[in-house]
Amino acid sequence: MFSKYKLTLKNEFFFIELASSMMMSAVFIAILSTSIYMLGMNEARQKIISSNFRISTYTEATLEGLIVTAKILADDSDVANFINHNKTMEKTVLNRYRSITNANSNIKYCYSGYTNGDLLINDYTPVANYDPRTRPWYTSAMKKFPDLSVGIPYREIQTGEWLLSISKTLVDAHSNISGVISLDCSLEYANSLLNSAKYYDSQANFVVDSKGTILVHQNEEYIQKDMDTIVPGLSKLLTENSGYIEYTLSGRNRMAVYKKLKSTDWTIVSAIDSSEITTPIRVKLSLFVLFLILMAIALGLAQVKIYEKRFVGPLTSLGKRIADITDGKHSPMPTSRFSNHEIATIARKIEEMTETSLSKKAYELKLILESTSDGIIVLDVNSKIIHYNTQFLKVWNLDPHLEQSTIREFVLSGMVGSVSPESEHLLNMHELCSGEGCRLDLIHLKNGSVLEQYSCPLVDAGNISGRLWSYRDITDKMIAEKTLTQLATTDSLTGLRNRRYFMDQAESEINQAKRNCLPLSLILLDIDYFKSINDTYGHAAGDRALQFLADSLTSMLRTTDTIGRIGGEEFGILAPNTNSASAFRLAEKIRLFFEDNFFWVDGNALRLTVSVGVTTCDNGAHSIDILMRCADEACYLAKSKGRNVTVVQNHLT
Ligand code: GH3
Ligand code: MG
Ligand code: MG
Repeated sequence: MFSKYKLTLKNEFFFIELASSMMMSAVFIAILSTSIYMLGMNEARQKIISSNFRISTYTEATLEGLIVTAKILADDSDVANFINHNKTMEKTVLNRYRSITNANSNIKYCYSGYTNGDLLINDYTPVANYDPRTRPWYTSAMKKFPDLSVGIPYREIQTGEWLLSISKTLVDAHSNISGVISLDCSLEYANSLLNSAKYYDSQANFVVDSKGTILVHQNEEYIQKDMDTIVPGLSKLLTENSGYIEYTLSGRNRMAVYKKLKSTDWTIVSAIDSSEITTPIRVKLSLFVLFLILMAIALGLAQVKIYEKRFVGPLTSLGKRIADITDGKHSPMPTSRFSNHEIATIARKIEEMTETSLSKKAYELKLILESTSDGIIVLDVNSKIIHYNTQFLKVWNLDPHLEQSTIREFVLSGMVGSVSPESEHLLNMHELCSGEGCRLDLIHLKNGSVLEQYSCPLVDAGNISGRLWSYRDITDKMIAEKTLTQLATTDSLTGLRNRRYFMDQAESEINQAKRNCLPLSLILLDIDYFKSINDTYGHAAGDRALQFLADSLTSMLRTTDTIGRIGGEEFGILAPNTNSASAFRLAEKIRLFFEDNFFWVDGNALRLTVSVGVTTCDNGAHSIDILMRCADEACYLAKSKGRNVTVVQNHLT
């Protein structure tokens, strides 16, 4: 998940701070949530207990009024001795009953039944064959004798309405049970009394007797049912005067408090759905957790801001500054970048060290660059100049006015004179800046100098970051090489090619002739009686004769012909694309030239003659050996024929 984020110091600080704030918050949340939950539950329990207490008190007070009334009526001799009395007495008792129902609105019916089956009641017409002795209020009172029967719920026989009866046996003057007096109140009224003090919507208040039978409940279905059907486990606890129970009904967590009334065996139970208590607590807790999380994030952000200002910012600034120093940008150092603490000291030290180290390195690099005889320039991939040395300016005759520019701007600013083909080379350097591979080239300048150019890419961690060019003036070296080659291939006395070069050349001429199917002729010349020139006029005269012959041959022959001194006073001529007849004519022309011309030695005009051997190979059929031997034999033949003669021989004898 975090891989999406750039791993910066700032982000890292943020996540660390967030994590620590979250951890602290988690501990707070755990402690405070438990406290809030416990307090909330306790408060809720207290509310139900107080609600249950109030209801119990109301109920008890109401019930006591009814009990006292029932007791007074039971002690009333008119009521107790009414059995078999006349109508006058009936009216008196009924009037009393009416006064009681009028005085106490809680009482719906006030009536009495007698052992003879009589019923004394106002405004009520019993059903046919109605027998009070069989009714629940009557039988219950009889069972409870001499005590009261309190709270018997029963259905009114005609309407089916639930009534709650408080009944007591009547005892006549002879101490015999004469009947039962009963005061009924409606169950609806009892329920309204029970639910007069409700704190929670799901709160249900109801009455059970000591046996666990439900006497009053707003849901009539439960009346006279076992209480364990709606509050499992409570019946076992009814021995206690009051208490609290948590239970589960139809998968829902519920709780109930109960309190026994003193005057009867009634217990008032108040039950509620636990979620009605826990939901607001959970909402409160969620808001609290959300608040803490937001606080943790805010704290994280605030701390990051501080860290950023105190650490990350200064370090980033230091990084930029170091990069500037490394790039050679001497930006002024801001003074108020760091707070006055350890970071400032460290940062300043790093800057100083970097500057010192870099300037030392730069100085060393400059020394190295300036100590080399090569002209060096280094460009980055955008053709910007990274380094160059004075030798580079000298080699290219540049006098630049621009620094920190591209090579093109640099060259144009420093060019002495107009754009030449040579400076075009520099102006096009940028095209190679990002190129691969090293190159070695020769550049011939107008002034005759030759530069050896070596260029190579700068490879930094596998990437090309620029290119280096170095230029070496190899003019002297080239001249020396040329001289050496000259010396190695030239005869110093005559300036003609020496024997080795001549033989090499002959071999390549033969090969070329073979390739082109052209004839090639070889002419060998040997000065006649040369020894006698030496002997007569001295060695120097002999040398002069050799030079005369060489100069004469050079002026007579084509540039495509190769003339070589192949022995002391022996010379060879390679005449490409020359057949035997032409070669003979050329040989004769040479021979006759020397016959007709003379050369000067110490004021003496001297003449020399040559014996000439000619051989030709058509279509390059011969090897160099055979060709030489043929020409040699021809020359020897010319000598034997008396000298100053040309002999042609194309085959070995
Ligand atoms: P032939 O007509 O039979 O060729 O007679 P030759 O005298 O020319 O023949 P030989 O081979 O006997 O003599 C060649 C001479 O050339 C011998 C040598 O002293 C001389 N010689 C060779 N190289 C040089 C040189 O560089 N300078 C001078 N001055 N003489 C040289
Ligand atoms: Mg010779
Ligand atoms: Mg000779």
